[in-house]
Amino acid sequence: MSTPFELREPGAPVANGVPLCVPFLGGNEARYLQECIETNFVSSVGPFVTRFEHELAERVGAKHAIATSSGTAALHIALLVAGVEPEDEVLVSTLTFIAPANAVRYVGAWPVFVDAERDHWQMDPQRVIDFVERTCGWDGTALRNRTTNRRVRAIVPVHILGHPVDMAPLREIAFRYRLSIVEDATESLGASCRGEAVGTLGDIACFSFNGNKLITTGAGGMIVTDDESWARRAKYLTTQAKDDPLEYEHHAIGFNYRLSSIHAALGCAQLEKLDSHLEAKRKIASFYETALRAVPGLRLMRQAPWATSAWWLYTVLVDEHSFGMSSRELLRVLDRDSVQARPLWQPMHQSIAHAGAQKVGGEVADALHAEALSLPSSVGITEAQLDRVVAGIEKAARTVQ
Ligand SMILES: *Cc1c(COP(=O)(O)O)cnc(C)c1O
Repeated sequence: MSTPFELREPGAPVANGVPLCVPFLGGNEARYLQECIETNFVSSVGPFVTRFEHELAERVGAKHAIATSSGTAALHIALLVAGVEPEDEVLVSTLTFIAPANAVRYVGAWPVFVDAERDHWQMDPQRVIDFVERTCGWDGTALRNRTTNRRVRAIVPVHILGHPVDMAPLREIAFRYRLSIVEDATESLGASCRGEAVGTLGDIACFSFNGNKLITTGAGGMIVTDDESWARRAKYLTTQAKDDPLEYEHHAIGFNYRLSSIHAALGCAQLEKLDSHLEAKRKIASFYETALRAVPGLRLMRQAPWATSAWWLYTVLVDEHSFGMSSRELLRVLDRDSVQARPLWQPMHQSIAHAGAQKVGGEVADALHAEALSLPSSVGITEAQLDRVVAGIEKAARTVQ
């Protein structure tokens, strides 16, 4: 039994409550799974993996796609393929789920954590420019961090909460200093930046199909790129680096990061529903926007004029003084009514797992971390459930006025 102060973990079942973000399996999932069983294609062989790869590539507008066992595995391989080597440095958003920072460490490189901007909470391109121009120098072949003497090799912008990072200035600086851009698009399938789809804005990109993402395969991920040799390398590395599959000869250390046919079958069914999922997310966002606009002390999530958001998780900032209680107090009040909200992740520059890492700024991410609360945003959320979330927030606001 949970007490008012033992918060349920996000994603845990909430009897008669409103979960944060759960899968919506409303299409051909069961039919395609049945097909896997009837054809005996449940593992790595069979049509669904290739079909899922082709359909996702086409949807995003990338030339190639490689399915992986998770979004984190996709990030690991994307960094390897993008040429990140041990002891290199990689610029990563500080306000993110930990996966991309960990992936940088998997390849033996070092993350440099970049602060968020205040308006849309994404990686701040100006901080990247400041770091490159003030802390680094071009040594004739590469960009080098003058304080560590390490090579700076890549940028990992994380499009958080469904909204894209402002990519134009990042692309310019990446081009100038020969940095690869590895997009972490795991939270933003379907979003776009100045009309260009997230996933095609850098050199290589990663998606996730974890249970709470825009579409799900239970667990899974995808790498997309326009570069054919990178795509071939990614496929090779995710499938145990087999050079002679008959004689089992390997010329490199590979990984078992394949997606199974069963997962891919789910993915094909989910992808057919992506547009309706995005439509549901937009409706959830506009519902909250209308209902919460007048609540004092809340700052609502905004879409940049140059962006189309996927509105993955609708998030608000709670100003403790004008709202009357902190974001964490509101979290507990909602939890008592079995409404699952969630704070944003601890910024990476505060993470003990990445203690000692360099950072560029961090104050904005710290403030956002203190104030932000993501609200229930499941594709299948009902209007009654949305009303209940809003009523909970309004009641909390009234109690303290
Ligand atoms: C979900 C997510 C990932 C990948 O997660 P997996 O569970 O490994 O698929 C990576 N980065 C971010 C920002 C995420 O939200």
